[in-house]
Amino acid sequence: PESITVGELANRMAEKAADLVKALFKMGTPVTVNQSIDQDTAELLVTEFGHNIKRVSDSDVDIDTATDVDAPETLQPRPPVVTIMGHVDHGKTSLLDAIRGAKVASGEAGGITQHIGAYQVKVADGSELTFLDTPGHEAFSEMRARGANVTDIVVLVVAADDGLRPQTVEAINHTKAAGVPMIVAINKIDKPEAKPQRVREELLQHEIVVEQLGGDVQDVEVSALKGTNLDGLLDAIALQAEILELKANPDRAAEGTVIEAKLDKGRGPLATVLVQRGTLKVGDVFVVGAASGKVRAMIDDHGRQVKQAGPSMPVEVLGLGSVPSAGDQLTVVENEARAREVAAYRQGVLDRKRTTAAPMSLENMFANKA
Ligand code: GDP
Ligand code: MG
Repeated sequence: PESITVGELANRMAEKAADLVKALFKMGTPVTVNQSIDQDTAELLVTEFGHNIKRVSDSDVDIDTATDVDAPETLQPRPPVVTIMGHVDHGKTSLLDAIRGAKVASGEAGGITQHIGAYQVKVADGSELTFLDTPGHEAFSEMRARGANVTDIVVLVVAADDGLRPQTVEAINHTKAAGVPMIVAINKIDKPEAKPQRVREELLQHEIVVEQLGGDVQDVEVSALKGTNLDGLLDAIALQAEILELKANPDRAAEGTVIEAKLDKGRGPLATVLVQRGTLKVGDVFVVGAASGKVRAMIDDHGRQVKQAGPSMPVEVLGLGSVPSAGDQLTVVENEARAREVAAYRQGVLDRKRTTAAPMSLENMFANKA
């Protein structure tokens, strides 16, 4: 009988391997990412995800059905999506700026970075990394609660002069719950009072054993302020990404997740979308949340207009009917009629949820009857 590893199946479904492992565990099949499962189990799993997460309707408006799995030969390597988390003032923003600044200065002279909530960095070997500029842990857990697990790798920033703090522990718990691998960046190593070893020991209390202590969680000493060892951190991320073997099919209708969205006075509703599989193109018709739209233009993290965006690329999308929410799924469909149909279906689901969630009072019981 045919079998497939959980990691490979995750790639083909464009889902997180950790989510599959969790679902399998619930189904009574405890396995790890590298283990194989038989075809029956794989089918069950696909149905499970198709049913719970991807299903758009019970009728013909199904656009993400259980058969919506990419064939292995269509998969190509994609950049990892990285989120930086940690306690306030431990240097998250500084680290993001340093990584972006260093790269802008060295490789792309004159490049003006634009805030779109995510950006890509090219590393020494030519490969790219995607960073999510999340406003905080709340956004991370809220996106996750909505089934949008977009992060492949978490970089946990801990200030070496301060050690583990409440939000550090919160970040650790979020990361563990999401099943996402972690890299520890021990920051502020330039400070005379820095105690990196103390950080490593404190992490032990949360079952995180870093490499320096013989474990398998990479730890890297950095100074965001001085720009020390940023390459070491980027190498660590690249290595972790290599282990994950992240792949997606770029040659299909695009699917992605809204990272952030806003209403711009001049340009209308804007959304930064992280493409997860397929390639998003100008002119594509799509559904996002319960609204439809058509890609009028796309802008990358340097403020440049782009015609298309492949897997793991973040782009700002113009041409939305309304402002979506972070975590909303964007799905390209074949035409506008279909888009309206799917949008209406999704709106119906939302309305039903709202109705059932409303507390029952005598008044609305009668109102519902009428
Ligand atoms: P965030 O709240 O985690 O985003 O932290 P910030 O990046 O805003 O940094 C908080 C403070 O720590 C700022 O005053 C930074 O200049 C300082 N800081 C950040 N990284 C370093 C570092 O590597 N060394 C030193 N000495 N200070 C740093
Ligand atoms: Mg900050």
